[in-house]
Amino acid sequence: MSANLKVLFPAEQIASRVAELGIQLRADHPGETITLIAVLKGSVLFLADLARAVPGDVRLEFLGVASYHGGTSSSGAVQITQDLRASIEGQACVIVEDIVDTGLTMDYLLRTLAVRGPRSLKVACLLDKPGNRETDVQVDYVGFTIPDEFVVGYGLDLGELYRNLPFVAVYQP
Ligand code: 5GP
Repeated sequence: MSANLKVLFPAEQIASRVAELGIQLRADHPGETITLIAVLKGSVLFLADLARAVPGDVRLEFLGVASYHGGTSSSGAVQITQDLRASIEGQACVIVEDIVDTGLTMDYLLRTLAVRGPRSLKVACLLDKPGNRETDVQVDYVGFTIPDEFVVGYGLDLGELYRNLPFVAVYQP
């Protein structure tokens, strides 16, 4: 690994925070089947751990989105590359995202999914970078709030690398 990675959140800290989020999700949706909508690819590790931390019934759905194109700054453009396979009408849904940065991606996803008639639609992100926000999008569940730095690991990539790191680190080129 040639890049300089500074660990921000070690695996143990992520695990205990994700466990808390799972309990919180269930407490906010008592008795409901929760549809977790994972935004590919960055959220898959978070999704896998979060899904196991939510007691009771959960459905998993996947949504492919392209917003960054291999670099370390946002293009601002959002594109759905893989749509949901099932209807979310009448379901209690939580969008599971790796990180909310400008908020443009989440704003687009919320507007796109809201018109499909879910019973409720919330947002869970592992990381929140509010310093770079360009929308007033509401994030209901936040793992950690971070400063405006580019991070990798635990699903987050740079040019498709580093997703498999068990920790989140600041990438210093
Ligand atoms: P937004 O639309 O909120 O600006 O960006 C959302 C997407 O940008 C995230 O899902 C993620 O793919 C990417 N992104 C934003 N900040 C970072 C970062 O610090 N590291 C990585 N790897 N991706 C980021």
